[in-house]
Amino acid sequence: MIATYKASYIAIIMATKPSSRTKPAGRKAAAPKPLSKAEIAQVFSRFAAIEPEPKGELEHVNAFTLLVAVVLSAQATDAGVNKATRALFQIADTPEKMLTLGEDSVREHIRTIGLFRNKAKNVVALSAALIEQHDSKVPEDREALQALPGVGRKTANVVLNMAFGWPTMAVDTHVFRVSNRIPLALGKTPEAVEKGLEAVIPKEFGLHAHHWLILHGRYLCKARTPDCWRCPVSDLCRFEPKTPAPMNKSL
Ligand code: SF4
Repeated sequence: MIATYKASYIAIIMATKPSSRTKPAGRKAAAPKPLSKAEIAQVFSRFAAIEPEPKGELEHVNAFTLLVAVVLSAQATDAGVNKATRALFQIADTPEKMLTLGEDSVREHIRTIGLFRNKAKNVVALSAALIEQHDSKVPEDREALQALPGVGRKTANVVLNMAFGWPTMAVDTHVFRVSNRIPLALGKTPEAVEKGLEAVIPKEFGLHAHHWLILHGRYLCKARTPDCWRCPVSDLCRFEPKTPAPMNKSL
């Protein structure tokens, strides 16, 4: 999927002249003004044309392992989580098996992930809570999800979106940055950005919007230096100064 995303971008880059709005680095950024509804629809139409069915990068085999993977992903990369969970999910892909495995073994499996001690405790505790309170199923209910150990609003949003198809907006560091840069919705907190995005993103893009924004932030609109010169929405984006193409441009 990543390969598809990158390949699609490269195709667009090859077919598109550099934006006439591109300005050299070093100029002061103008006060951002959020895009209009029509412009936001354009942004997501282009994302959809590049990657019609974007997927998250956390590996999982069912709703339970998705929930565990998202809990483990706090302050960790998806690649780092996947490396640890491949072996873990082979032996514990249900709440019962995770509870039987126990905190010590879970901790050993995930010790390469940040905050692993606390996360191991939460994974075992949430497995017990699912068995006791939800018939061993992941509940399709925001409040019930957020009542589970280690599950916050962002985790609940990811699970509701990926496991149940809700058009939720999970705001991670990438979504927060991209939304404020373009800007789609301005906000000083993830929750403010979440509400803002939910209010302006056209319904037809709601299901995939958070994955498009994560992919865009991870591979193009990067934190330190965004690749504006090869960005498919640079003519719409109000962020300045845009990053010009490198002198020794190589795609
Ligand atoms: S990569 Fe540059 S042009 Fe594209 S959205 Fe980010 S800041 Fe805007």
